[in-house]
Amino acid sequence: MARRVAAVCARVRQAAERAGRDASAIRLVAVTKLFPASVVREAYALGLREFGENYVQEFEGKAPELADLSAARFHLIGHLQSNKTRRAAGLFHVIDAVDSPKLARRLQEAATRPLDVKIEVKLSEEASKQGASPEQLPELIAAIRECSRLRLTGLLTMPPWTDDPEASRPYFRRLRELAGRYDLPELSMGMSHDLEVAVEEGATEVRIGTALFGERMRA
Ligand SMILES: *Cc1c(COP(=O)(O)O)cnc(C)c1O
Repeated sequence: MARRVAAVCARVRQAAERAGRDASAIRLVAVTKLFPASVVREAYALGLREFGENYVQEFEGKAPELADLSAARFHLIGHLQSNKTRRAAGLFHVIDAVDSPKLARRLQEAATRPLDVKIEVKLSEEASKQGASPEQLPELIAAIRECSRLRLTGLLTMPPWTDDPEASRPYFRRLRELAGRYDLPELSMGMSHDLEVAVEEGATEVRIGTALFGERMRA
């Protein structure tokens, strides 16, 4: 794992250099979904501090074994069903995929401490994908900003999967334009196969699973 962490950090650094950006402005979120708590602990021991999980229930099972990792920040990067908001608000530091005013209001009611949130934006037509459309953003942003316990920091997107990283570029560029329009500083974009393109397009956060931990078991 140490070798893989070093390789991913080098990829981020080199992409930042090429783009004339400061690599320290790019956060690495280690995506540990479907890996056991021991993998999170090993990554933490190697210095990683931000972790992404997709499933509330799965993380609920791992969280007790991770309670002593006091500097870790856990992000929910997968779709959140509104009946799980209370559990999610207690388990995660960051909710990265808010996509409706209703979900924002439920999180506000459930939160007992300030919660960082991002909006997941859906920029493709895929039926299987969650996220708010660009047209829905003004209303959703206004709704989140009315929630005193939610702190809206930015946007997240996930382009349609292809193995050609360049195919992601127009989606990343669009997300950056939208973030600029609404004055949101954080851009969560880029995964194992397209992190370089994301960094070139302004990512402040890349979400990396496979390149750090290898192939996942199926959910
Ligand atoms: C699984 C997942 C990732 C990580 O993908 P890799 O290709 O394994 O790096 C990133 N973001 C989201 C939203 C995911 O579900």
